[in-house]
Amino acid sequence: ATPTAIMVGTGLGAKRGVLFKNATALETSAKVNTVVMDKTGTLTRGEPEVTQVIAVGGDPHLDLVAAVERESEHPLAAAVVTHADALGVATRKAAEFRNVPGHGATAVVDGLDVAVGNRRLMESLGVDLSAAGPIRERVAAQGQTAVFAAVDGRIVAVIGLADAPRETSARAVAALHDQGVQVVMLTGDNQATAQRIAAQLGIDTVIADVLPGDKAAHVADLQRQGRVVAMVGDGVNDAPALAQADVGVAIGAGTDVAIETADLVLMRSDPLDVPTALTIGRGTLRKMR
Ligand code: ADP
Ligand code: MG
Repeated sequence: ATPTAIMVGTGLGAKRGVLFKNATALETSAKVNTVVMDKTGTLTRGEPEVTQVIAVGGDPHLDLVAAVERESEHPLAAAVVTHADALGVATRKAAEFRNVPGHGATAVVDGLDVAVGNRRLMESLGVDLSAAGPIRERVAAQGQTAVFAAVDGRIVAVIGLADAPRETSARAVAALHDQGVQVVMLTGDNQATAQRIAAQLGIDTVIADVLPGDKAAHVADLQRQGRVVAMVGDGVNDAPALAQADVGVAIGAGTDVAIETADLVLMRSDPLDVPTALTIGRGTLRKMR
């Protein structure tokens, strides 16, 4: 590209808070034909709220659950703690806290083994989920994330958490489709919840139940299929995928690691700036010829 075209493109982007870190980022944006988007914090606001706590077979033991989640830094954990505090649930002390990335967390509270997390976590602990299965399906069908709580190996509650899509996510997806770009949702959340939200946003390809360390491998898979991939994400667990992608795009409100790793930063945290960035890239490439 001519230095002038690069300067014009970079300047156009900067005016809209679309920060290309270098000339390559701008040039490669023109060739992108697949945009992979993280769900939580990228397509959604990343501010989950507890909408329902469904007890399974008696007391949901929210005090024990909140004690575990108080030790966790996960956004879902913060939502559970906020909910418990609002209800005035008693504060208890957790010991032997263990965070299990992509799964949940465990601890000992009042001498009881408490686990909070997804189906994978419960299966790894040998917790029988048959009584909670239908509840989980009902919660997921509403587009909510279902989190299980178990005490001493027995399921005590299913917690439903909602994380609203960003206002412009659906429009951003439509604009990308108009540009002839394939849009893929990539998430650590479960398949049913992810499918539901994807359907609301007009996304037809969903890769769900992805472990934090596996996001980059999914991007590489798409690249092996010949796709030129932009990966959009906000989290620490998105950073390797941002690095793997042809263009790594960070949400401005995201974590420092994501912003540092990305080739392109969306300062307004607006998904609509993804198609804008591709348009600017394409314009720059045209001027080069
Ligand atoms: P995402 O890619 O959506 O940010 P993560 O990989 O961080 O998701 O987590 C994947 C799933 O693991 C969550 O959707 C949730 O079901 C479960 N999980 C992880 N940490 C916790 C926690 N502290 N409390 C409850 N559930 C958790
Ligand atoms: Mg995220």
